[in-house]
Amino acid sequence: MLGNSSPLLIDGGLLPGRHRFETVDPATEEVLGEAADATREDMDHAIAAARRAFDDSGWATDPALRVRCLRQLSEALTRHAGELRELTVAEAGAPRFLTYGAQLDAPVADLAWFAGLAERYAWEHDLGRASPMGMASDRRVVREPVGVVGAITPWNFPHQINLAKLGPALAAGNTVVLKPAPDTPWCAAALGVVVAEETDIPPGVVNVVTGADHVLGAMLSADPRVDLVSFTGSTQTGRAVMREAAETLKRVFLELGGKSAFIVLDDADLRGACSYAAFTAVTHAGQGCAITTRLLVPRARYGEAVEITAAAMAKLGTGDPRDDRTVCGPVISARQRERIEGYLDLARSEGGSFATGGGRPPGRDKGFWIEPTLVTGLTNDSRTAREEIFGPVLVIMPHDGDDDAVRIANDSPYGLSGAVHGGDPERARAVARRLRTGTVSVNGGVWYGADVPFGGYKQSGIGREMGVAGFEEYLETKAIAEIAP
Ligand code: ADP
Repeated sequence: MLGNSSPLLIDGGLLPGRHRFETVDPATEEVLGEAADATREDMDHAIAAARRAFDDSGWATDPALRVRCLRQLSEALTRHAGELRELTVAEAGAPRFLTYGAQLDAPVADLAWFAGLAERYAWEHDLGRASPMGMASDRRVVREPVGVVGAITPWNFPHQINLAKLGPALAAGNTVVLKPAPDTPWCAAALGVVVAEETDIPPGVVNVVTGADHVLGAMLSADPRVDLVSFTGSTQTGRAVMREAAETLKRVFLELGGKSAFIVLDDADLRGACSYAAFTAVTHAGQGCAITTRLLVPRARYGEAVEITAAAMAKLGTGDPRDDRTVCGPVISARQRERIEGYLDLARSEGGSFATGGGRPPGRDKGFWIEPTLVTGLTNDSRTAREEIFGPVLVIMPHDGDDDAVRIANDSPYGLSGAVHGGDPERARAVARRLRTGTVSVNGGVWYGADVPFGGYKQSGIGREMGVAGFEEYLETKAIAEIAP
């Protein structure tokens, strides 16, 4: 199985690492096995290898090689999809049904989309001749890779986020040092093994450095040999990354937290909308930055909405992530469970009540579990409604019409995503356009896709991942002017 050896990938070599650390199944608390625990020296070697590969391997200057290698990687990962599926379910506690989409199959296919984009991309533009300041000149604009990319990723969607960084960064001609979260080393290491053994990607172009020490991430953000740091994680850690990167003024690309609103308009099918809101809020135990965690419903129907949503959440319950029917699996770790329980205490102390859930599900003695929880009786100025919890916890609040719903939705330090449900599509669309967020779903529309830029307004991040906009995050722009003959 790809997981067991879990080596580092540095300069084309698969290395067991001098130290090892354990990776744990969050559904059972069982130790799954070990992964390489990189030292600072390992990280230093990885950065040096990525630098060399960028400067000397030809990767940066040969788009055709990159296109071929990315297709190869996508095909190789597809061949291993069975094993990778098991790794994700075991290590991230991700419900298996998600691996048929955003947790695995979709991001693997997206690599080929980025290959296609690199193939058809207009790398150069001819601006033609002009005579600025009286000097006739022929001008061109050339797009080039930025250089060495430090990719720092979280544990909640390991393949999706690792590949959403590798795909565009590599297609654009950069070299990468990938530093995954300590909770999910196997998913990243498996990627490294496939890169090394089944593709022609030159040594040093992709390096995978797993480890338990957060300083590995800080090294990437601070190192002058790294040109761009591409980070996905909490807003708090994103701030740290930006500070670490400031000294060398490297480019930062940040995908951070959210507290997104799900707006139900007064002409919506209340039952359908609230049931869908319940489903999305508890998917993968709410461990997704773009998950809608504030449900705004018409005041006149608040009681009814609470009843429908609570019943739907209770029915979904928690389940074994290996069961294809499970929507809400475990949370990632004891630490994360404690953090969520802290928020449940906070909700109580702020005057909130639980229409369903509110703690650990009875009978689950092993593993890290939180019941799907619906919080009632709080307003949008409570901390429970303002801070990201990253668990299956939904806050339901009343609104007094479209303007009020938009006001509440936008009254947040975050601006990642949102949802609007209404009977009149034009009205729902108008509300969607007023949300200050990077993505919005109208009546259940799915925005996820290789061609769709994803990212945040306000404190949800800087830059966009995926799509042409996401690809261009990994490019520099050079203007060349030549004196006209
Ligand atoms: P979590 O709290 O769930 O671990 P984080 O946002 O803190 O989520 O972590 C996301 C990623 O950032 C992980 O790979 C983690 O190791 C890394 N990381 C943590 N602290 C820092 C830091 N100061 N600088 C760079 N990366 C960091």
